[in-house]
Amino acid sequence: MKLVLLGPPGAGKGTLASLLKNSLSILHISTGDILREEMRNNTKLGREVKQYIDHGKLVPDEVVTKLVENKFSGHAVNHGYMLDGFPRTETQAEDLDRILSRVNRPLDYAVYLESSLPVIIQRLTGRRICRNCGALFHMKNKPPKKAGTCDECGGEVYQRADDNEETIKIRMDIYMKNTKPIIDYYAAQGKLQKVDADKDAKEVQDILMKILDEGR
Ligand code: AMP
Repeated sequence: MKLVLLGPPGAGKGTLASLLKNSLSILHISTGDILREEMRNNTKLGREVKQYIDHGKLVPDEVVTKLVENKFSGHAVNHGYMLDGFPRTETQAEDLDRILSRVNRPLDYAVYLESSLPVIIQRLTGRRICRNCGALFHMKNKPPKKAGTCDECGGEVYQRADDNEETIKIRMDIYMKNTKPIIDYYAAQGKLQKVDADKDAKEVQDILMKILDEGR
């Protein structure tokens, strides 16, 4: 299965990707995760992108596209792939098409996770992440058993610097301006699948698996 997951911040792309990764065993590429890893390791790239990320701004197209291109050249994608958080602009969507046609693995579906603003704010302000393994928590819906400690690996659980109301507003504005238009880009290719992502993650996964099964 060859997918991109689209949708506003907080639509549940990361949560759905980690559920699907297990059931589909395909390559998962999250540009946000790759960039956060670079920041954690304090690399040159990590230092360059920090200002963009902490303030909710988009990292320049050529930087993220290169990361995605490297992933495709470094990994076998025979079983498929799932991109989460990329593309975020029309330029990225066009570049992605070029990369995919070069590796001869064109997209099957662009899955659009539709979510409403109150749900997005509630998800993002409560979201917590393990600094070590990336496991996702939520202060209300899925708090870690021991405060501040990851249930999976014992790592430190933290709140992303960009998950505060002020930065969420900037990220939503950028999403509406730059990312929402690519929904039409994929609709025009006949590849768009819409899913109501206000539902809980397991329900969204079941609905999506049904759609994907029908399309096989
Ligand atoms: P995410 O984890 O997908 O919410 O991404 C976190 C942040 O990383 C975003 O707010 C951007 O600053 C940056 N980022 C991730 N993916 C992209 C992308 N495709 N294009 C530009 N910036 C990105």
